[in-house]
Amino acid sequence: MPSTGLLGEVNDGLRQIFFGLNPERIMSAATSNGIGRFALDRGARYAKERQVWGAPIGTHQGLAHPLAESYVHVELARLMTSKAAWMYDNGLDAGEASNMAKFAAADASVEALDRAIQIHGGNGMSTEYGLADAWGFARVLKIAPVSREMVLNYISQHSLGLPRSY
Ligand SMILES: Cc1cc2nc3c(=O)[nH]c(=O)nc-3n(C[C@H](O)[C@H](O)[C@H](O)COP(=O)(O)OP(=O)(O)OC[C@H]3O[C@@H](n4cnc5c(N)ncnc54)[C@H](O)[C@@H]3O)c2cc1C
Repeated sequence: MPSTGLLGEVNDGLRQIFFGLNPERIMSAATSNGIGRFALDRGARYAKERQVWGAPIGTHQGLAHPLAESYVHVELARLMTSKAAWMYDNGLDAGEASNMAKFAAADASVEALDRAIQIHGGNGMSTEYGLADAWGFARVLKIAPVSREMVLNYISQHSLGLPRSY
């Protein structure tokens, strides 16, 4: 590797790893957002098509409101993801925004997916609909690449100025 390939300073390599964590969190958030949008699309589509006792099940607020609420949560997560990506692209400190985006997007996608599965009833667990299959990957993004607890530790310490807890 020629010296022009050096990232940062010699003997300070670990810092370069940390520079990679924010974009990793932003990409993780974007992945969750995609799953969330997929779930909302499939949930809304099925709620319009599926008829029980002569009415589309989307007529019922018991199904419509949870999906609408998840739409709000996914859109908010997408907005925070855009903010984090913009800050990173513009060389600003994107730590807080990246963590918040990752946290919000993972939670929103799992929530949306769970609600879309519920709307599908028994079909929600059928592999043909692709929802139950997505759940494992969506769920792991609440743990990796950083767990929601460590995001909350970061925000407690860096955003709220609370004492470090670990
Ligand atoms: C499929 C997969 C892919 C992964 N990919 C990546 C990756 O790309 N990059 C990467 O860096 N890591 C990755 N990881 C690792 C991931 O970051 C860890 O699994 C995660 O940080 C939790 O660590 P742990 O599994 O060792 O659990 P533990 O450290 O044993 O923690 C167990 C639980 O306790 C909570 N906990 C631990 N300490 C505290 C504390 N001080 N305060 C509050 N709660 C706490 C944790 O949040 C977790 O819920 C991946 C993990 C998996 C499963």
